[in-house]
Amino acid sequence: MKILVINCGSSSLKYQLLEMSNENLLAKGLVERIGDKGSSITHEKTGLSEKFKSVAPMNSHREAISHVISALTDEEHGVVLSMNEINAVGHRVVHAGENYAGSVMITAEVIKVLEDCVELAPLHNPPNLLGIHACVELMPNTPMVAVFDTAFHQTMPPEAYIYAIPFGYYQKYGIRKYGFHGTSHKYVAERAADIMGVNLNDMKIITCHLGNGASVSAIKRGKCIDTSMGFTPLEGLVMGTRSGDLDPAIVSYISKKENLSLSDVIDKLNKESGVLGISGVSSDFRDLEIAVGEGNKRAGLALKVFAHKVRFYIGAYIAEMNGVDALVFTAGIGENDINMRDIICSELGNLGIKLDLIKNKVKGKETIISRDDSRVTIMMIPTNEELMIARDTYALAK
Ligand code: ADP
Repeated sequence: MKILVINCGSSSLKYQLLEMSNENLLAKGLVERIGDKGSSITHEKTGLSEKFKSVAPMNSHREAISHVISALTDEEHGVVLSMNEINAVGHRVVHAGENYAGSVMITAEVIKVLEDCVELAPLHNPPNLLGIHACVELMPNTPMVAVFDTAFHQTMPPEAYIYAIPFGYYQKYGIRKYGFHGTSHKYVAERAADIMGVNLNDMKIITCHLGNGASVSAIKRGKCIDTSMGFTPLEGLVMGTRSGDLDPAIVSYISKKENLSLSDVIDKLNKESGVLGISGVSSDFRDLEIAVGEGNKRAGLALKVFAHKVRFYIGAYIAEMNGVDALVFTAGIGENDINMRDIICSELGNLGIKLDLIKNKVKGKETIISRDDSRVTIMMIPTNEELMIARDTYALAK
């Protein structure tokens, strides 16, 4: 059974085609600058050393999906003869509110629910919906499945997701903690249990998804009991360009001082804050580390603030779960930034977290990086959200 995975952003679209009998990746690709000048598709067929890149006008997500279909069925770099060989499509969808705690087959009713959730995720759900509509139009007989970023976190108890604001706001507007990156947290937690050869239901795990967007989750007996992102992906850790947690009074204070609207301030907290805001250099940790090497103090401060917040959440979640068996690092920074993993884990020995500095010198490959005498097993596990989406799609569509 072949499953196509689609992840639509506002101007980009990532896709993968997988053969589920052996979970092999057949092809993957990226469409960029949809609706802009110079839109392009980069397509990679597994086993071929050269990538295929084509620049073509793509004014809509529908046109982008048409190019994906052409690439997948192309004589030279294609992997299927026709789209009839594709048995189902799995779509990444960011926000399902409180409606779904797992993946679902897409029906007219599901689409209506996702449209109702646009208010909760105005940047993410609209492009996700465009991708779904385009695929339904171009592949009307192929089953479609929605896999949600929020679903894995639906097991949080009310004490973790209720904000201490007038309760009516939760009842009227659904204002609560939802959490994001759920597919990634779930994937690495399952892999951690597999690697350790322990039943997930017997484990307490803290997963650190540290990418441009970053979040930490507490996973007890396979269920998420708390996570650092909140009502939107702005809460929690310091990120590339997002502030993470701050005193909400700061929002109106900046608005008054800088003569900005509240939504402009929120925009600054999303796009001009985080390690970029502190350093003034970059949101990319590679650039920050180069700047530190050149003596840039604010770049150094940005890295310290980032690490401080990750350690803060690790400590909090150890307290919430009354212990931890495994600590997992994943995503761009978690998988590649040896120095950052070292800073985060330093001085946590009393909590049973002891990093092996030699084993830690690893990038992009599943590895246990704790010392033999560390009570907590520390792991680096590359995330694979696409595989999780394909698995859920396969399970529902078959
Ligand atoms: P997202 O999917 O949220 O866009 P990623 O998980 O791909 O983000 O992470 C991207 C980030 O990972 C980059 O901005 C950079 O900060 C960090 N990163 C990637 N490679 C490295 C590396 N070799 N060393 C340090 N940081 C890295």
